[in-house]
Amino acid sequence: MDLSKITESFTESVIREMTRIAHQHPRSINLAQGFPDFPAPESIKNAAINAIKDDINQYSITWGALSLRKAIVDKISKYNKIKFVDPNKNITVTCGSTEAMISAMKAIINPGDEIIIFEPFYENYGPDCLLSGAKPRYIQLQAPSWSLEPEGLKMLFNKKTKAIIINTPNNPTGKVYNQEELKLIADLCLDYNAIAITDEIYEHILYDNKKHISIASLSGMQDNSITINSISKTYSLTGWRVGWAIACERITNEIKKVHDFLTVGAPAPLQEAGAFALSLEDEYYQSLKDFYQKARDILFNALKNTNLRPIKPKGAYYMMTNCKEYMKRQDLKTSMDLAIHLVKDIGIVTVPGSSFYANPQDGQFQTRFCFCKKEETLQAAARKLEKIGY
Ligand code: GLN
Repeated sequence: MDLSKITESFTESVIREMTRIAHQHPRSINLAQGFPDFPAPESIKNAAINAIKDDINQYSITWGALSLRKAIVDKISKYNKIKFVDPNKNITVTCGSTEAMISAMKAIINPGDEIIIFEPFYENYGPDCLLSGAKPRYIQLQAPSWSLEPEGLKMLFNKKTKAIIINTPNNPTGKVYNQEELKLIADLCLDYNAIAITDEIYEHILYDNKKHISIASLSGMQDNSITINSISKTYSLTGWRVGWAIACERITNEIKKVHDFLTVGAPAPLQEAGAFALSLEDEYYQSLKDFYQKARDILFNALKNTNLRPIKPKGAYYMMTNCKEYMKRQDLKTSMDLAIHLVKDIGIVTVPGSSFYANPQDGQFQTRFCFCKKEETLQAAARKLEKIGY
């Protein structure tokens, strides 16, 4: 019996597999899958408990609780400078940004359409694209600056281009797209009538005074953008699965239908708590930034003293490393060999670079560390990394 040719064409997530490997090595430190090891804010947890006690326990309106949609409108107009969002016409609340992404693609794709994806990428984008029926077209950002090569991008756009995926701040590189890059992408989208699908879940995790810009706020992009976000990373609630997609009314109407038949709705009480979270004051976001800047610097300084060469991220909470010299010395052939060696011999779990590229060979000498961890976890990791040496 034939099974789906599409699902047979990709593997399970390596990021999540590394967490399972971490569980098999209980003394290892999991710096693979990006989730915090510290508690979520007390006030948000209380908001969820209160919502459950108040019996917000049945389905919400399928495209999201009104309180959360109103809070999103408020946030997106102030922080993202996106002014067109109406709570009833432009928002679909989903089970995390993961569902928002696949729903967005399913809502716009027809057979033969192409979606442009920057490499290295967050590994969901390729399978999402295939599941929606589109053909992924890849273009690489070059380490260590992860700069975007305008001519290469212009050459990829063609009449089959339906969308381009942007992830800023970026996982796994830490790149924060600047105004000029976003303007280039926006102009290409408008020229080819393509849609920028933008995953902005790390929008508050920025270093060295970097600023976040949403492509949907650029002139003319209202009808050519889908902006995706969630409460997972900003409020350290990755297991709650509350995210959303924002788009013009025509696109939103299609996303709502996909979402309705995929999951019906995101967890109702957690949406209420999400609405509360979005109302937190500026101080919360400043302290989140300060916390992660310190975490980044601890991990960077620890890696700098090894011959895994770290590239300092400008945003998000991951650090890519170039491990070519070390792999040669240890006679390790693939980035999975390296990751397994780091688990077994050093006690640290990372994500092999190959999982961020369509051609695994392109990430063969890289591995990704995450640093969304307590200071003591990162200090313990730093001590383990001393074994690697320079
Ligand atoms: N974004 C996280 C990472 O890259 C993982 C998210 C997930 O597993 N759903 O590690």
